[in-house]
Amino acid sequence: MKESDELIQARERMVEDQIRSRGIKDTRVLDAMRTIPRHVFVPSENRHIAYADAPLPIGHRQTISQPFIVALMTELLELKGDEIVLEIGTGSGYQAAILGRLAKRVYSLERIPELAEQAKEVLYALSFDNVEVLVADGSQGLLEYAPYGAIMVTAAAPRVPTPLKEQLADGGRLVLPVGEQAGQILERWKRKGDDFGRERVAPVAFVPLVGEHGWDSDERPFSWWV
Ligand code: SAM
Repeated sequence: MKESDELIQARERMVEDQIRSRGIKDTRVLDAMRTIPRHVFVPSENRHIAYADAPLPIGHRQTISQPFIVALMTELLELKGDEIVLEIGTGSGYQAAILGRLAKRVYSLERIPELAEQAKEVLYALSFDNVEVLVADGSQGLLEYAPYGAIMVTAAAPRVPTPLKEQLADGGRLVLPVGEQAGQILERWKRKGDDFGRERVAPVAFVPLVGEHGWDSDERPFSWWV
């Protein structure tokens, strides 16, 4: 279906005003953000603000991340196109779609079955046949298809889950928010053999990673939905 000029322009403004102007340079990331229709991943009641400079609620006390954070985390993975990528926290499926555009194959794990189902439907409608969504506790990773050239966690972990480090390929990149439920630091880990280098990138505020290697429960007051 042909898109309206209004939506195309809204995405162009999002890329210029929120993403490129804040320092994202990877042209493949900018192109993916320019072409993937974010609004179809947003629940209908919020679709009119799908291109706003903000995270938005997607139900079940979860969010679709702010466009700039999606772009930043994607750029940090340094994808070239031949990677197998693991994403933890499918949510709406928007980040999985961006990764699907930039990598060979994406496995995306979500713990809430209703969100996984909804994301699968949207990704299928957009013909993303290299993105697979699975219902699982992603804090344990996904041994079946490991090792991964890149891993992204889009929920806040109290510490880096050990299985994710183990499932990262030699030379691979792992990007995730680490810290308290109220606020975290976005970190990038790079693996060289048995050594892992860590960079601390920026303060962020994600919903919690709940699971075996995450938090026991989601204790946030509802108003902390950023
Ligand atoms: N990447 C998503 C998008 O593009 O819409 C946004 C993710 S949202 C900020 C975080 C997601 O992580 C939520 O959907 C939440 O249910 C999920 N999550 C939390 N803990 C998880 C776990 N252990 N395994 C899988 N998903 C988890």
